[in-house]
Amino acid sequence: MASNLPIPDNEKERLTALISYDILDSESETRINDLTELASEICGVPIGLVSLIDEDRQWFKAKVGIEVNETPRSISFCQFAIMQKDLMEVQNALNDDRFKDNVLVSEDPSIRFYAGQPLIDDNGFALGTLCMIDNQPKALTDFQKKSLRILAKEIVIEIQDRKKRKERDVYKKFFENSLDLLCVANTDGFFKKLNPAFERTLGWTEEEMLVKPFFDLIHPDDQAKTSKEIEKLSQGYKTVGFENRFLKKNGGFVWLDWTSMPDSETGELYAVAHDVTHLKNLVSQLESNNKTLDQFAYTVSHDLKAPLRAISGFTEFLKEDLEGKLNETTLKYFNLIIDRSEKMDSLINGVLKYSKESKSDLSNSVFDSKELLEELNQNYLHLTDFKLEIDPKCPEIIFNKVQFHQIFSNLIDNAKKYNDEEFCSITITYCSNGPFHQYNVKDNGPGIKAALKERIFEIFYRESTEETKESSGIGLSIVKKILESNNGSIHAESDGENGSEFIVKIPKI
Ligand code: ADP
Repeated sequence: MASNLPIPDNEKERLTALISYDILDSESETRINDLTELASEICGVPIGLVSLIDEDRQWFKAKVGIEVNETPRSISFCQFAIMQKDLMEVQNALNDDRFKDNVLVSEDPSIRFYAGQPLIDDNGFALGTLCMIDNQPKALTDFQKKSLRILAKEIVIEIQDRKKRKERDVYKKFFENSLDLLCVANTDGFFKKLNPAFERTLGWTEEEMLVKPFFDLIHPDDQAKTSKEIEKLSQGYKTVGFENRFLKKNGGFVWLDWTSMPDSETGELYAVAHDVTHLKNLVSQLESNNKTLDQFAYTVSHDLKAPLRAISGFTEFLKEDLEGKLNETTLKYFNLIIDRSEKMDSLINGVLKYSKESKSDLSNSVFDSKELLEELNQNYLHLTDFKLEIDPKCPEIIFNKVQFHQIFSNLIDNAKKYNDEEFCSITITYCSNGPFHQYNVKDNGPGIKAALKERIFEIFYRESTEETKESSGIGLSIVKKILESNNGSIHAESDGENGSEFIVKIPKI
């Protein structure tokens, strides 16, 4: 664009505003056309336009008396008109230095007279003009000027309303098509507006739901907590993740997860609910499966113990009765049966321990973790080839004391059991790690190979070389189960040669 052409100071913002109306290149609209026609009738001119000033063109939203849809901005009269707050009138273009050489003056449509009333929106942006054009010189009367101002105002109102209508249409589409349930409710206990997802989910029509107090539809067991939630909302709080059950027309219930907020002016509640019935059913099925599984493991292992005891008992009797009569190979097999039975017994004990874990008392208490670890250390004080060092920084914590004992006695026992050095040295250090208490249990044993760092926490996993009967592969899986069910964690670190380090994280409460 040539540099001597006028550009409004707020040109960038003005263009953004114009684009936000989503009106450029839109279809012609009766109301704006009628207002333009009325303006040109009143002003008695053959050409009337609603001209919107785009970056490098003027585009005509409405036009009377010409066929073209747009012309370059650089030759437009309107680019001058939008620099003004009020009407720009050029009575004879041939007498105006700005326009006398303009191609629209020298050639078709041979403009002589021009009057442009800027179209200024509520934010002060001049979007374009309502302009009147004649090929004869002319001057507007006061009445014509006044009419032009009024009609321009009407056109701006229409352009702004059309934008609002479009925005409302977008919200309406969201409201109508949302799969989530959207509603407005009064604190007096009635719904005021519901989207169609309510009917799709619950089966009641909107009319049926609007005349029923919504408490009639809430599951009796969820009414008290819903009242509390509504009380919070009426005090101005927003609520998130609140769940209750709603009655379906067919008699069943749907679990809904609500996000609600009160309108600060009207006190009405605006709420969105998501149907979580399927999720709830899955969770309760999972919980019940877990319970059954634990019970199953407990019962089976418990019942297995009796016949096993009988097998090893009878084998011992047979061995005693046949003493002296057995050859070396048969004796070896007898001993193997006894040994394997003991091994099986220790495996069954492990399963029992694991399944009992979820049945144990889960209450927390405040205790000094250093004192508890020192107590554990008492069990090893008689050993001359063993030393356990405990960080004096170990703090007072809130956790289940029995479980804390289980975690650390397992880790210390392992560090001792798998140690291959002449002197077994273990250190427990403490640090505060964000929301966690972190204990590092480090030993000078053989370490753990990188590939096994995760596997050692699996139930029944143990290294095949460890064919001792104390090894059942249960210990670390119990430790992990305890920690994870308390939102903590455990992992192992080791270079595979120079000892292992177990990092235990217990949430701070
Ligand atoms: P187990 O009852 O057999 O000790 P765990 O679940 O406690 O079972 O341990 C699983 C496996 O992890 C063990 O068999 C052993 O190979 C390895 N392991 C555990 N602790 C250590 C440690 N401190 N150093 C080296 N290896 C270890």
